[in-house]
Amino acid sequence: MNNKNLKIGIIGAGIQGVCSGLFLQKKGFDITLFDREEPGSFASYGNAGHFSLYASIQLNRPDVLKDVPKMLLSTNGPLAIKWNYFLKMIPWFIKFIKNCNSKSMMHTTKNMHQILDLSLSSYDELFKDIDTSDLVESRGIIYFWNNENLKIREMEMKIRDELGVKQQALKPHEIHDLEPNINKIYHGGVFYPNAKHTTNPRKLLLRLFDLFKKNGGKFEKQNVQDISFSEGQPIIKTEKDSYKFEKALIACGAFSKKLTDQVGEKIPLDTERGYHVHFENMTHLLSRPVIYLNKATAITPMQQGLRVAGTVEFGGLENPPSKKRIQNIINNAKTMLPQLEGKKHSDEWLGFRPTVPDYLPVIGASKNYKNLFYSFGHQHLGWTLGAISGKIVSGLMAEENTNLDLSAYSSQRFST
Ligand SMILES: Cc1cc2nc3c(=O)[nH]c(=O)nc-3n(C[C@H](O)[C@H](O)[C@H](O)COP(=O)(O)OP(=O)(O)OC[C@H]3O[C@@H](n4cnc5c(N)ncnc54)[C@H](O)[C@@H]3O)c2cc1C
Repeated sequence: MNNKNLKIGIIGAGIQGVCSGLFLQKKGFDITLFDREEPGSFASYGNAGHFSLYASIQLNRPDVLKDVPKMLLSTNGPLAIKWNYFLKMIPWFIKFIKNCNSKSMMHTTKNMHQILDLSLSSYDELFKDIDTSDLVESRGIIYFWNNENLKIREMEMKIRDELGVKQQALKPHEIHDLEPNINKIYHGGVFYPNAKHTTNPRKLLLRLFDLFKKNGGKFEKQNVQDISFSEGQPIIKTEKDSYKFEKALIACGAFSKKLTDQVGEKIPLDTERGYHVHFENMTHLLSRPVIYLNKATAITPMQQGLRVAGTVEFGGLENPPSKKRIQNIINNAKTMLPQLEGKKHSDEWLGFRPTVPDYLPVIGASKNYKNLFYSFGHQHLGWTLGAISGKIVSGLMAEENTNLDLSAYSSQRFST
């Protein structure tokens, strides 16, 4: 296929949209990126910044199902729900429950591993054209846990070993040697030596976006209202104008459902809301990101200070932020690092992880329109998966062959 001057419209300038634009440019396409905000304003701004290539095992697991009701009812647990959204979320929960069995868990794990394993090498293809020296650190990531559910921790380690994920089990004294400031609340942990993190997700995204513009990419700061088709070609309609393209890509993260509903697909996308706060001038306490697994709370040393990120709250896109959830991650951070006691935090932020009930992203062509493509639904791992998803979807849009089995990511899975 000759891609020269073929026009593609991408909706969404988060990490998925920007990386897809860059890989499409490498193939010679002429790209216009649409976003109603400045690039990198949503989930791709406030995440924990981890490149988590090891994180193949997702939340759709048999053991999680047993713990969910208890977690939802607890005020200081890792999960929460906005009860005014509960009824709206029931269909999603039913599908999630159906995916909480060993077979579905392993299907998700295998297909997440396939792309996670390629995540860093795909970023390298983009990072070679920008300066990342002040923005990407290679110091690994530590998870630690208390003495609850130790059998599950063993199971996770075993699965990752079988997949060939590089990991080192940590005894309490080894955690202390690596990160002496962490409170000794841990029973054990794991170190992922190959994991990386960014010290400023938004800055890194903007550097990629600048490259996109330097390569001739166009940016329209407009809200996309709908997509229609003329002789099979997509027309992107904004408040100001209509734009006709040869092909289009929806990469709107948790907001993608509005557009996919319009084109007649019933994709069960919802959001797992997460929060962050910053503790300024405290980065000396940690050498690398740490995660307290039982509390789903991560602390990452960043340019803004220590970024405390985490918690999963089911509550849709419209509900206001929840003060209790913010307090929850602050309390967890102070348990992890008692030196934060008495320190003020800044920048209370709510973000939307885009999640479908089988915890696999949606990457591929639309069921109904062959010139419309999707890349969203990357849940807790959208930052890690930006480049590889962009590489995959750009290959599909260029009608190239691939050795990867991409069937698990197709939106067709929701039609059966
Ligand atoms: C607290 C928290 C911590 C996280 N930590 C990590 C981590 O450490 N590692 C990791 O890999 N992942 C992490 N994630 C997940 C990751 O941030 C997301 O999966 C990822 O950023 C999603 O990127 P995206 O480009 O799909 O969506 P977004 O970044 O949300 O971008 C979507 C864009 O689409 C635009 N848009 C939407 N609708 C329209 C429209 N109609 N017209 C025009 N524009 C539109 C929006 O304005 C937005 O800019 C975390 C998430 C949260 C909330």
